[in-house]
Amino acid sequence: MMFKAFLIKYGEIGIKGKNRHLFEDALVHQIKYALKPVEGEFLISKEQGRIYIEALGDYDYDEVIESLQCVFGIVGICPVVLKEEEGFEQLAKDVMEYLDRRYPEKNKTFKVNTRRAKKSYPMTSMEVSAALGGRILEAFPEMKVDVHQPELMIHVEIRKKINIYSEMIPGPGGMPVGTNGKGMLLLSGGIDSPVAGYMIAKRGVKIDAVYFHAPPYTSERAKQKVVDLAKIVAKYSGPIYLKVVNFTDIQMYIYEKCPHEELTIIMRRYMMRIAEHFARETNSLGLITGESIGQVASQTMQSLAATNEVCQLPVYRPLIGFDKQEIIAVSEKIGTYETSILPYEDCCTIFVAKHPVTKPNLKIIRRSETHLEEKIGEMVKTAIETAETIVVDALS
Ligand code: ATP
Ligand code: MG
Repeated sequence: MMFKAFLIKYGEIGIKGKNRHLFEDALVHQIKYALKPVEGEFLISKEQGRIYIEALGDYDYDEVIESLQCVFGIVGICPVVLKEEEGFEQLAKDVMEYLDRRYPEKNKTFKVNTRRAKKSYPMTSMEVSAALGGRILEAFPEMKVDVHQPELMIHVEIRKKINIYSEMIPGPGGMPVGTNGKGMLLLSGGIDSPVAGYMIAKRGVKIDAVYFHAPPYTSERAKQKVVDLAKIVAKYSGPIYLKVVNFTDIQMYIYEKCPHEELTIIMRRYMMRIAEHFARETNSLGLITGESIGQVASQTMQSLAATNEVCQLPVYRPLIGFDKQEIIAVSEKIGTYETSILPYEDCCTIFVAKHPVTKPNLKIIRRSETHLEEKIGEMVKTAIETAETIVVDALS
């Protein structure tokens, strides 16, 4: 194993002053979480606006990279060689050894880029770069300098230790989870809502979730599918508190009392109301859904207005302008697609009308809901009280 350490690059825009510490601490926290299941022991340290991960023994390189690529806030992962500062001769030797081991073919154009954080170092950055460039050409005559578009940018940073690196493996970008409050995701077993959760978590938002389950119309396997999806999202977002609400009675009652073509809309309104209750109870600052304009009858502009009307908290719909194909592409990338397409029934599909309203009229919907007055309050209360909480952790 050539590399024992990684230098983590993160976006720095907008994280000046006090925010910077919050950002870095959250990032370190999420890195620790991501590395927990990886075999090996790692030391994570913050130093002069940098985050380092050092392996304290054997570890699986690919697994580390894969795990770090799930940590929002990371822009790049640089496998780095760290050396004590012991004068230029030793530095030149270390750089030669680095190149020899990392690029045995040595048929590349290169440029040396030196940064000197330690101003007491006796040479300037320019001098170090020039001297190292000369040494490399001497030692490896096949290599050529190209200052404009080098194939290899050899970074040498003189800090507390000397950093030598030449690669940056892309991270997922975004902001570390925990830096932007919390949101309540309405998570179904479909393709869209896990992607919506991923996208909001990517902006630094911690995620809780709620799933409306309708036994016996929806099976245990359908519920397990939602837990499995939450588990995949949790690889990126950290642990998710998933509320499983028994929605059967409410759904049956709506079916009994309201026009069938309005069933989906009215059901969605009750989902939003209950989700909002849990959001407030657990300090979430908004609801998150996987809706996209026009995708189905319940997602036309009129339908969205009807579902939106019942909540006071903001509703975040990160997929609003996405086509299905674009959503699928993200779900494949993040690894939820295969689980999402498993064919278990969804509570929304069971009682769907042949011709659901596509342009619900708010006055009519409100009037239909008055038919529920007798029992709905009690039913919502029971649904809330009997909800099960599952802590979903990617690691368990
Ligand atoms: P998805 O792929 O996310 O299931 P969908 O295209 O099937 O989306 P709908 O069934 O209309 O869309 O649901 C729209 C949104 O409502 C979902 O993205 C999700 O956020 C929420 N939702 C729908 N059904 C449920 C459910 N059973 N539990 C929790 N949330 C749900
Ligand atoms: Mg669905």
